[in-house]
Amino acid sequence: MTFENTREFARQLDAQDELRKYREEFIFPKVNGKEVVYFTGNSLGLQPKRTKAYVDEIMNDWAALAVEGHFYAEKPWWDYQERFALPLSGIVGAKPSEVTVMNTLTVNLHLLMVSFYRPTAKKYKIICEEKAFPSDQYMFQSQVHFHGLNAKDAIVEIKRREGEHNIRMEDVLAKIDEVGDELALVLIGGVNYYTGQVFDMKTITEAGHKHGAYVGFDLAHAAGNIKLNLHDWGVDFAAWCSYKYMNSGPGNVSGIFIHEAHHNNTDLPRFAGWWGHNKERRFKMEPQFDPVRGADGWQVSNLPVISLAPYLASVEMFAEVGMDKLIAKRDLITAYLEFILHEVDKEIEGTEFEIITPENKEERACQLSVFLHGQGRALFDYLMKNGVITDWREPNVIRLAPVPFYCSFEDMYDFGQILKQGILNKA
Ligand SMILES: *Cc1c(COP(=O)(O)O)cnc(C)c1O
Repeated sequence: MTFENTREFARQLDAQDELRKYREEFIFPKVNGKEVVYFTGNSLGLQPKRTKAYVDEIMNDWAALAVEGHFYAEKPWWDYQERFALPLSGIVGAKPSEVTVMNTLTVNLHLLMVSFYRPTAKKYKIICEEKAFPSDQYMFQSQVHFHGLNAKDAIVEIKRREGEHNIRMEDVLAKIDEVGDELALVLIGGVNYYTGQVFDMKTITEAGHKHGAYVGFDLAHAAGNIKLNLHDWGVDFAAWCSYKYMNSGPGNVSGIFIHEAHHNNTDLPRFAGWWGHNKERRFKMEPQFDPVRGADGWQVSNLPVISLAPYLASVEMFAEVGMDKLIAKRDLITAYLEFILHEVDKEIEGTEFEIITPENKEERACQLSVFLHGQGRALFDYLMKNGVITDWREPNVIRLAPVPFYCSFEDMYDFGQILKQGILNKA
């Protein structure tokens, strides 16, 4: 398709967009009385209008039924989480028994490492990506420390090559082979939060398994963004947050995946709680833990149903649309955004926008990370003041996520115009 940097052309793309009605389903903040161009759905997704009814339902049931709501609410609270199994399994490519919701992301990764990081004298190393999300780095360090190991020795980072922004797949595989028999666990982000690089999780999983290691993924930037086939890829475990691409609200609950191959392995240690206990016998208050077979067996506490409600609204929207349609629009709108950036770059002398997200379509999804060479933080401030919500990372990188659920092609056009003004005004 030949793109044009005009409002008419952008509107034409919107008119052809099958998902355009979903934009109306979200609440946009306003700046100067106008709905913003929202590029930070990779950080906190917008609020769907239907979410409030889901939360109100719990509040009303609580008011009317109090403790009886556990069993007699329209959606009883005691097994509320089971409503996620089907829609979530579709989003991450799993069997329903392989997914559940609980806790928050970093907490879940810790709990999963209890099961899947079991270092021995010979096999104790973790491979992760260089400059992983800080929470993941702290998690690795504290887990290794917990096992009495030295972080410098036990944590092996896959590095970028000098002068390159992204990690090469061949380097990932070489590192896995190099660590070889000492490798206990590979745990990396499915999509890098900074560059937006998408990793080939199937190949990484196979490579790790070849050396007898477990392989897991932090899917914070992947869930609801890319096509996942966790079951077929043989991934051992994964976890994600629900508040980025999945629009469930600030700091909200996380999802986990545990491959079916591990469901009957009672040798796997875990930090247990009553919500993971045999469902039929949970309220018999027996002393002996008998885990539910499946991801639900990793549950610990009874669930924060008021928090689950917005997530349920979200996964039902995803199930309604399906990942395939979201991905098709994602690719088109991201390509259009890239085109707009290049156009603005061409129109203004002295600018140089360097997109550090991989060019290759297999390695990118809904995010372009852009180095705005020659521009300062004042440009970011100008964008924010003029209704473009994005984020700024030192020295001068902006991350733009044109989320297909609610961003329009006209938003991309508007962004280009505001960006151009900001630079010309020497913001
Ligand atoms: C957003 C994000 C987190 C956040 O973790 P929380 O426990 O939800 O605060 C962790 N890891 C990655 C890779 C992220 O992008």
